[in-house]
Amino acid sequence: MKKLLVKYASEISLKGLNRKVFEDLLIKNIKERIGKNHKITKDLGRIFIDDYDEYMLNKITKVFGVQSVTVADVTEKDIEKIGMAAVSQLRDMDVKTFKVETKRADKSFPMNSLEVSREVGGYILKNISDIKVDVHKPEIIVNVEIRENAYVYSKEYKGAMGMPYKSAGKGVLLLSGGIDSPVAGYMMAKRGLEIVCVYYHSHPYTSERAKEKVIDLAKKLSEYTGRIKLYVVPFTKIQMEIIEKCREDELTIIMRRFMAKIAEEIAKKEGGLCIVTGESLGQVASQTLESMYVTTNGINMPIFRPLVGMDKVDIMDISRQVGTYDISILPYEDCCTIFVPKHPKTKPRLKDIENSESVLNKEELIKEAVENSDIIDI
Ligand code: ATP
Ligand code: MG
Repeated sequence: MKKLLVKYASEISLKGLNRKVFEDLLIKNIKERIGKNHKITKDLGRIFIDDYDEYMLNKITKVFGVQSVTVADVTEKDIEKIGMAAVSQLRDMDVKTFKVETKRADKSFPMNSLEVSREVGGYILKNISDIKVDVHKPEIIVNVEIRENAYVYSKEYKGAMGMPYKSAGKGVLLLSGGIDSPVAGYMMAKRGLEIVCVYYHSHPYTSERAKEKVIDLAKKLSEYTGRIKLYVVPFTKIQMEIIEKCREDELTIIMRRFMAKIAEEIAKKEGGLCIVTGESLGQVASQTLESMYVTTNGINMPIFRPLVGMDKVDIMDISRQVGTYDISILPYEDCCTIFVPKHPKTKPRLKDIENSESVLNKEELIKEAVENSDIIDI
């Protein structure tokens, strides 16, 4: 018999009394991804799934909190049977060197770990020609775990790591069509933060295709998180008001203050406690320290910028790994690139900006934008 064996991140096993809560959430998240009708059990730091296919294996590697997934042979706790399973796995692999590692969770088993490894290693050497033991740099490690049954596995598929999704509260992610914000969302979701996405849409200045692109990015993120809610906030009226009534070089910063405030309102409505953006210090005029200071002044919840200290090339690397890069580089305009001042202020002063804004009916504009948002279930 074969089962999928899922190892979870050691951070979860260190959770002490809360450990069960994290484990159960992880199992719930896995179930949500592969379908409820699979039998999932847990045993001392491991999760087992009875029936499986390749497709499922790939899905589970994307669940946050998973360290690795492997297909294990399940045998009786009999050294000959364990050896046979190991041999059949290695035969399929065409490797020249190996090492056996054993974990004995069932301490009543009469042989200790070293003895099991030695016996199984001997069995492999006897039954496969042209193969050697290499304890330092083996091509493959054959793992044996002695539990209520014996489990034998070799090839492990790396999981997404992190903490179970939804184990760390909820926040709002400002998701644009760019490279950065999907990565920021991924990083926070990976730490367990449940994400509600918010996209500011400037119809008709930004096209339906720009919106579709954001939807596609949210879909890609949902491969890791499961279902996501996306708010599409109508932003044109606000931008028009700003353009009409405020100084040209302050357009971007005032617009960003609206974005932050709307995000806060949506977070409150959704029971969220933080805002996440894809900003990185100094990347563009609106991401200088002075701009960030003014943008989020007056927001009463934490603002997470997980990319703040990262270089663009490194952010791009992560976006390729996550799979959002190819969507992000599609050339559709976003609301900020359409309404950019020629010389945006890089060192705005809070007092000046508050002054400029005072001619706008901020509260009403914000309320209206939130109320008229489209909510899409991804
Ligand atoms: P990104 O690659 O994420 O678009 P960027 O480098 O283009 O980032 P900006 O356009 O200055 O940077 O945006 C900074 C952050 O503000 C974005 O990472 C995102 O979190 C948020 N943001 C910008 N535009 C929008 C939008 N139209 N809808 C939602 N959030 C936005
Ligand atoms: Mg952008």
